[in-house]
Amino acid sequence: MAFLSDELLATIHGRAAEIDAQNRFPFEDLADLKEAGYFSAFVPREYGGGGLSLEEIAAEQTRLAKAAPGTALGINMHQIIVGLGAYLVAHGNPRGELILHSAVAGELFGFGISEPGNDLVLFGSISEAIPDGNGGYSFNGVKIFNSLAPAWTRLLTFGRDDSGDDGPHSVFAILDRADGGFEFKDDWDTVGMRATQSQTLLLKGAHAPEAQILTRTIPGPSKDPVVFGIFSHFEILLAATYAGVGERAVEIAVEHVKTRKSVKNNTVYANDPDIRWRIAEAALIMNSVGPQIRELARDVDNGVDRGSAWMPQLSAVKNAAAEASLRAVEQAIRACGGSSYFNRNELSRLYRDVVAGIFQPSDQESLHGAWANLLLGPVRDA
Ligand SMILES: Cc1cc2nc3c(=O)[nH]c(=O)nc-3n(C[C@H](O)[C@H](O)[C@H](O)COP(=O)(O)OP(=O)(O)OC[C@H]3O[C@@H](n4cnc5c(N)ncnc54)[C@H](O)[C@@H]3O)c2cc1C
Repeated sequence: MAFLSDELLATIHGRAAEIDAQNRFPFEDLADLKEAGYFSAFVPREYGGGGLSLEEIAAEQTRLAKAAPGTALGINMHQIIVGLGAYLVAHGNPRGELILHSAVAGELFGFGISEPGNDLVLFGSISEAIPDGNGGYSFNGVKIFNSLAPAWTRLLTFGRDDSGDDGPHSVFAILDRADGGFEFKDDWDTVGMRATQSQTLLLKGAHAPEAQILTRTIPGPSKDPVVFGIFSHFEILLAATYAGVGERAVEIAVEHVKTRKSVKNNTVYANDPDIRWRIAEAALIMNSVGPQIRELARDVDNGVDRGSAWMPQLSAVKNAAAEASLRAVEQAIRACGGSSYFNRNELSRLYRDVVAGIFQPSDQESLHGAWANLLLGPVRDA
């Protein structure tokens, strides 16, 4: 059974165009999602949450993205971190409980990982993590594309600790908004995904006490549950969100060609073999995405060990969804014709939104590098 009601999704859908046009944060969507229990939907029942599995929350993210991609991509960051919390508890890191209790208490998590020009992304930070001497850390640095900037109350972030004689370490922590030590730049003026309000965040001594440090680990694609937990939930839930954009584009095209009439053929475009082929093509592209998402989500839910294939396959599912959705939106636009070029048309917004999927991690360069390493091993001297 679905968690988010059709009525709520219709309400959120009804606001999406205006929120995009005004380039503003969807406070009312977030309030409604909180009211519906969505902030804690992914928290296990024994912690007081809704008990949804990763497979189930991924399905909800696809439904929400069909209604409003920007709102869905924003709350996706929160769901990634809640999923991390449950994953940590299940894998022997009790600090996950901090995340789960916070989500049940109504806290909203932001995701402060990406940094300017840092293509290591999760596998190495260029921000500073400075130890406070009591097991806590203060963070200095720039985090880009910080979705939910106007609203998050807690932030997952990481920085690099160079203080020890054991080499650089990545320190992952949860920051409290109320503790300060950061500023936002009001710089979110983008092509699409405008409702995420993913502003640049400047960390200026933001402090996390020892109780809020999730791990201190060696940089790189590690087996640390914090790194794998973030990576797996990020890639699967991002895939689920972009899948919603592509699926919605197919729905719009199907409805539109039933009324768009051809003078030449004296019938609606839904009877035109070329248009029928295009729409079938868009649906077929999307048809292969859902099963991939569900299979990987199920394996994370069930603790399946895919060994060294895990990370490349997780990157692949996000890329499959993002690329399929891009192509499906394009086919839908071709089928619907010039009316889709007007800003008032939902397809034009989906076209702008779906482009973000191209460069959100893992991008194609990172995907192909991971697969080449899996298949060929590292590059060697001739
Ligand atoms: C809609 C959307 C929402 C996102 N939400 C989040 C989120 O909540 N949390 C998160 O961690 N990530 C988020 N991401 C970021 C995403 O994960 C990628 O890291 C991001 O797309 C950057 O990709 P890039 O490496 O191609 O861009 P880059 O090439 O790194 O460019 C990104 C920005 O950094 C600047 N920049 C690049 N190099 C330098 C440099 N050397 N010095 C100074 N500035 C530089 C660019 O001018 C640009 O403004 C989001 C992305 C999108 C599109």
